Amino acid sequence: MVADTSWNAFANSKSISSNLDRSAGSAGSFVPTPPRIKDKRAVVNVQNSDDGYCFVWSILAPLHSARDHRYRIQNYAKYASELNLDGSIFPLPIKDIPRFERQNPNIAIHCMVVDSKDNSFSILYLSPHVHKPQHTITLLILDNERDPQKHHYVYAKHLSRLIDHRSKNTKRSHVCLNCLQVFSAEHVLEKHERCCLVHSPQQIAFPEPDKC
Ligand SMILES: [Zn+2]
Repeated sequence: MVADTSWNAFANSKSISSNLDRSAGSAGSFVPTPPRIKDKRAVVNVQNSDDGYCFVWSILAPLHSARDHRYRIQNYAKYASELNLDGSIFPLPIKDIPRFERQNPNIAIHCMVVDSKDNSFSILYLSPHVHKPQHTITLLILDNERDPQKHHYVYAKHLSRLIDHRSKNTKRSHVCLNCLQVFSAEHVLEKHERCCLVHSPQQIAFPEPDKC
């Protein structure tokens, strides 16, 4: 039997919490954070061992930031009904993100993937709405090495910390969502963005920290 991965099947079942109690080993999309990224303490990777709703948890994590144990689904499950996920299948295909945005117009998505081999980041999707007064949420996709067909979303809470390992500077830095260049001042970023955002998102590769 093919598992019903639609959100409706999830939300319409007895209760969300009962779904969360399913035994481990079913169709969870969870992928552990690679050590190199984990060390940066820059992402929130919600442990959805039993479901494929990593996109949902990664959206709710910034909207309902938990004080402790941010990786626990239980922090976010009660807010799931706030999102309009009608007709979505999970794990959510990247091509369906624009539809999610149309159904949830207060949210704009910036989605990247990291190549574990060379530590490069590529932008898979940049919402045209990121500079409107909405919640802009950066997601990072982790590959599932055991099953290349699957992917796992995590919330990139600290984008500059995630990609700016070239600098030991502890001051807050600002990242262009389009090209991932890092700037030390917000007004410099704003000036840069006026030119950069007319181009398509770019791929960026960083050297290993010990080779910088
Ligand atoms: Zn840029």
